[in-house]
Amino acid sequence: MNKIAHIAVIGSCSVDFCTYSPKLPSPGETVIGVKFTTSYGGKGANQCVAAAKLGGKSHMICRLGDDQWGHQYKKHFQENGVDIQNVHIMSNVATGIAQIAVSEKGENQIVIVPGANNYLSIDDVHNASELITSAEILIGQLETPLKPTLEAFKLNKGIKLLNAAPVRADAVEILPYCTILCVNEPEASTLSGINVGSVDEAADAIKRLLKMGCQMVIITLGENGALYASQNETKLIHVLCDPVNAVDTTGAGDAFVGALATFLVTYKDRPIHQIIGAACEVATISVTKEGTQTSYPTNYRPFGREY
Ligand code: ADP
Repeated sequence: MNKIAHIAVIGSCSVDFCTYSPKLPSPGETVIGVKFTTSYGGKGANQCVAAAKLGGKSHMICRLGDDQWGHQYKKHFQENGVDIQNVHIMSNVATGIAQIAVSEKGENQIVIVPGANNYLSIDDVHNASELITSAEILIGQLETPLKPTLEAFKLNKGIKLLNAAPVRADAVEILPYCTILCVNEPEASTLSGINVGSVDEAADAIKRLLKMGCQMVIITLGENGALYASQNETKLIHVLCDPVNAVDTTGAGDAFVGALATFLVTYKDRPIHQIIGAACEVATISVTKEGTQTSYPTNYRPFGREY
């Protein structure tokens, strides 16, 4: 590998099949829907694509199945500027999928079949060890097995950014290896044991999470922006975001994580509150558009305003 790897993402890829119907079916019932969409998802892939769209040199470490979705996903990564050297297509296993039904009332039913995501292994980490060790930022989430992510975090010599989603109790094992832990309010509640429903409660959760070993903790607060503190600078800072007409908040947290990673490596001389503010701007743009990866901005130039 002759180029410097800026951002490596270890994690999940899935294809989302979404139906829209007047009501959700009860067990055994068939309902007629009005719309069907297929889209690329999975938290790892979302974050990697978000970073690449902003100009980050991003590398994905993941597993896909040897089916049409796996091959299409690989092509999709390439089209979005993601390095696919460590994207493995495996036989006899399906690509991860999420089957989502949405009703007119906005209720949903979701079935996730992780498929190939469940097979991401420590061998995959060792095979990508040069990339993982040298990446300026390594991003992980919890949609793939914990052990390979933990191993990757132990190897990396740069900034280790964990988005602890979907949250699970044993994630505390990885916290001492995190440079930055980024979570939303429900995830912060589960990990810290403090029910986070306000900025003050988020502040308490951050203090507790810092004690659990992370160097910096960011809690994203939806339309209220993000709150953070670090071991070095324990004073809590609240970064606000602009009010917008949100049409689809799916994947906003992933947009935030991908943007945070790209801006951290691209604008090293900027203070962290400005970097977090710029990541909030990207995530806020994403909620004004339908879709997940399709709602992430391309080549967005931050720092048009002060924080
Ligand atoms: P997640 O998508 O992981 O649940 P959040 O809901 O906290 O995460 O959103 C992540 C970021 O997306 C926020 O910090 C904010 O920048 C942006 N965001 C989310 N919802 C809104 C909203 N309604 N208006 C403006 N920005 C939003």
